[in-house]
Parts: sequence; structure tokens; C-alpha cells
Amino acid sequence: MPEVAKNTEITYTGIPASPGIAIGPIHVIARGFSAPELYVIDVHEIPVEQKRFEAAVAITKKQLTELQERLESLSGDSVSEIFEAHVMLLQDKALISRVDAAISNRRQNAEYAFYAVMQNFLEAMRRIPDPYLRERTADIEDVSQRVLRNFEVDKSTPHQLPDEKHILLAYDLSPSDTASMNRRHLLGFATEQGSVNSHTSILARSFGVPAVVGLGASVIQVTALTPAVIDGYAGKLILNPMPDTLAHYRKITEEKEKQRDELDAKRDEATETIDGRKLTLSANIEFLEEMEQVKRSGAKGIGLYRTEFLLLNGNEMPDEAEQTKAYTLVARETDPHHAIVRTLDAGGDKLPVEPLTEIEPNPFLGWRGIRVSLSRPAMFREQLRAILRASAFGKIAVMFPLVSGVTELLEAKEALKRCMDELDAEGIPFDPKMPVGVMIEVPSAAVCADLLAPHVDFFSIGTNDLIQYTVAVDRVNPHVAKLYKPTHPAVIRLIKYTVEAGLSHGIWTGVCGEMAGDIRLTPLLIGLGVEELSVSAKAIPKVGQVIRSLEYSSCFAMAEDALKQQNSQLIMDLTLAIARERYGDLLD
Ligand code: PEP
Ligand code: MG
Repeated sequence: MPEVAKNTEITYTGIPASPGIAIGPIHVIARGFSAPELYVIDVHEIPVEQKRFEAAVAITKKQLTELQERLESLSGDSVSEIFEAHVMLLQDKALISRVDAAISNRRQNAEYAFYAVMQNFLEAMRRIPDPYLRERTADIEDVSQRVLRNFEVDKSTPHQLPDEKHILLAYDLSPSDTASMNRRHLLGFATEQGSVNSHTSILARSFGVPAVVGLGASVIQVTALTPAVIDGYAGKLILNPMPDTLAHYRKITEEKEKQRDELDAKRDEATETIDGRKLTLSANIEFLEEMEQVKRSGAKGIGLYRTEFLLLNGNEMPDEAEQTKAYTLVARETDPHHAIVRTLDAGGDKLPVEPLTEIEPNPFLGWRGIRVSLSRPAMFREQLRAILRASAFGKIAVMFPLVSGVTELLEAKEALKRCMDELDAEGIPFDPKMPVGVMIEVPSAAVCADLLAPHVDFFSIGTNDLIQYTVAVDRVNPHVAKLYKPTHPAVIRLIKYTVEAGLSHGIWTGVCGEMAGDIRLTPLLIGLGVEELSVSAKAIPKVGQVIRSLEYSSCFAMAEDALKQQNSQLIMDLTLAIARERYGDLLD
């Protein structure tokens, strides 16, 4: 993005990630290997700073060695050698003495001294003509960033955000950045990277923070405090908005607020179509703090509790007692409705259990979901015991993520059975009939839905992943975002097949992926026979009203027609035609 002249309005269009309008000044988070704060230390602090440097390097070496060992057993030498090189770099005596000298001679704080030495080193590397060596700069940046993160101060303050209302602009934000952000002053955010189904965007929608992602321009070159508007409906970032633009967006904000109040007033009405088909409308949550909002929203239960967000405080899940507390709170607060607790789905673009997932060549096809749980039996056991213990206090159900076939499901169920036997023997109460569900989010699971159905009490379709795996489009890659089509014929056929396999075994099917909250698609999902929709708490009143505006019979006929169509656009047109006719005013 070129220099933005003051008073020139410029609009950038990206992907609408979270609805809403934000108006305010920009705050920019610098990209990648960024400079830590520099401060001058006293003479007596020199040994303290040198020790801090030593400690950060020691932690980093330990992490890298562990990573290397694990990788050796999983993928052989070639990948693990990368980490060996990283460790060697940190043992380089010249490097260490340069940092020590910068601390003692220049009186620089340890992280800055380290950063400055590494920057010089990187600059020298970049001047080398050999392309192989030049490419190694990325490795050096990576290991340097890791050391910087391991300084105490970096761990506790991931990003320093201003104390005033602002719009955040960043190259990219990880789900953990987004989750740990202080939202008190955050009006909205815009990122160069990202896509609508990344967990960062999902979190933005849960928090009700307007967001635009995938802007693709060098937005972080924008000067701090530039006045801006985020249009989370149309996916726009507008810099230096003119008075007419501001007036336009203020009007939209007013209209949306009025609409929200009207919908809120009806949130307790039944979620039933005009011709009497009952739908369960439940909420997705990531954090316990969302329970208040869930209760206010009129949701009939929790359809998906993403427990991996308990990992935010570190690389490990909290212990059994702490997890039991969290799940019991959800069970109690959701009673008399059900609360579906999904076992850990770490990996992919989400929080890693351990550093391994950071360097997987293809994380979405790698160590995530049930695969992580099954390969960490002690961790899985603690989580299952905690879920079971909470089932004594409300209608808890458990479900397993990223299952690809019957074998994994049965292994997970065996682990659950062992936990039940243990609790029985210990005299700890739980619900022996706690429903067990499986997420249908890998095409192989959808195709084998008839084989999975006899072993579970419900299916919950994770369309975010089901779409990415079915059409081979990375859900977080903005370069292929246009190919990510919820209405692709293959996707809707898999949904239909899953619903039918469920019905023939007497079990219900829900959708907890983002498709469930996209009201253009509600006629299609209802028509395909889905019985539960689980959406962000913020979306509940609107989706409830949409359900009440529809007729199941016409949705069913439309879905039958949709299943015969050749491409996603034709299917979208069919569902949109009903949406426009029945509740055009609610479409953004
Ligand atoms: C999904 O894949 O649709 C889903 C609900 O799970 P997650 O978004 O957490 O991967
Ligand atoms: Mg998923």
C-alpha cells in the first residue's frame, strides 16, 4: 500500500470476516521479527540482564531439542535437522559474547541487545549472493523470534495495545492473539492475511468485533492514528473517511442497532418453521465468559464448546480438577438444555498442545483433533474424566473432532469406557448414559456416516473443515478463498448423505460449522434435513427469526432441486431466492 495522503479517502476491499461497523483511529501491529523495547540498564543490572539472556536461550534450546526428538521419531532426520541447526546457532560463542557485550558495554536490556545482534547478522546474510544461504534468514528469524518470546516480558504481554479506542491493523493475527486481546478498547480489526473461516474470524464473530481480513495489501504501512472505518458487512477498510462516508456508516450503525433490538425482543420464541418443524438452535462457545451472552441470546443449549481454548494459558490443558470446574459450570448454566463438549481440537490453525504443530509442513492434514488426543492418552484421560464428572450436574454430551473413520471413533470410545469404569470404581458420580457424538468434518467420515452412526447418539457436521477437505481449499488461505464454497455440490451431497445415514440409525444431525450461522444457507440446511443449528451467541436471535420465517416443505423441495445442480452458484441462487423472499431485510 503506498503512502496514504492525509485527507484522501481510500477504500481497500478484503473479506468480510465479522459483521458490524467500526469507526476510529488505527493502531498498527508490526509484522514478524519486530524490535522489542530498548531501555538503558544500570551497571548493577548487567549480570541480571545477562542471566535473563542465558535463561531465554536455555528455554529455547530445551524447546528445540524436545521438538527435534519428537520429530525424529515421527518423520526421520531431514526435518529434525533444521532444529539441530537452530540449536547450534544458539550455542554459537561469538553470538553469545556479542550479546553479552551489548548488555555490558552499551547497557542495553537483554532482549534488545539480542535483537540488535541478530538484526546485524541477518543483514549480513541477506547480502550474501548464494540463494541457499539467503533463504536461511527465515530460519534465523524464526529462532530469534522464539528466543524473544521466551523472555519473561514477552510471554506476559503478547501485544501492547493502546489505552484508547482503536481499530487494529495487522499483517495477521493468530487465534491466540485474538483470544488474548484486551477487547475493552478494540473497535474492530483488519488484517492482510486470513479468511472467513479461520479461527481468528470465528472468534471475531463470537466477540461481536467487526473485522475485515485478507486485505492482501501492505496495510501495516498505514500510519498510526489514521482515521478509519471498518465495514464488516462488505469487507472494507476505509482510510481517511470523508464526512459523507462517515454519515453513511453512522446511519447503517443506527439501522442495525434498531434491527438487533427488534430481534432481541423475540429471542425466546420457539425455533419452529411455519409448518411446524422444530429445530434446535444452540450456541458455539470458546470461553466460559461467553456463557452470559449465551443465556441472554435465547440459545437452547451449547452445540459446540471448543475446549482447546483452555490451552490459552500455556501449552498444556489444565488438570482434571480445573477442567471439571469449567465443564460443570457450562453444564449448570445450560441446564435444562444440552451442552456438547468437544474434546480437544488443537492443531491446524489453532493453539498447539506442544510446539510440534508450529512446524508441521501441512498442519491441517497433520497432528490435530482426535489424533492428538489418541496419541496423548494421559491428557485425553484427564479430559474425558472431567467431562464425565461434569455430566453429573447437567445434560452434558461429548463429541470427538476430526474423526476420519470407525477405528478412531472406537478407540476414543474405548478410552471413554475406561474412564467410566475408573470413576465407577472410585465412586465418583457421572451420567452413564451421557450422549456421545462424532463430528463429521472429514470427507471420509461423511462417506462412512452409515458405519459411524451405530456407534454414536448424534452427528454434528463441522462444515468449516468439511468444506476445506472436500474441495481441497485451505480454510485460512486468502489466495484460494474464492474457491471455498459452502454450496459446492459435493459438500451438500455429503451433508445430505450424513443426515440420511443418521436417520436410518435413529440419530439426529446438527451443523456447528459457520454455515449454520450464514442465513443465506438456512433454507438449504433445513431442507437437507439438519435438525440442530449451532451458531455464535450473537447470531442466535437472527437465526431464530429466520427459522420462524421458513416453511420446511418448500425448503425440502428446494434442497431436492439443489442436489441436482451442477455448481455452487446455482445452489446458492436457489437458497438465496427463498432467503430474499422470506427475510430479505435480515440479509446483510
Ligand atoms: C468445523 O470444522 O466446522 C468446526 C465447527 O470445528 P472448528 O471450526 O473448530 O475446526
Ligand atoms: Mg473443525
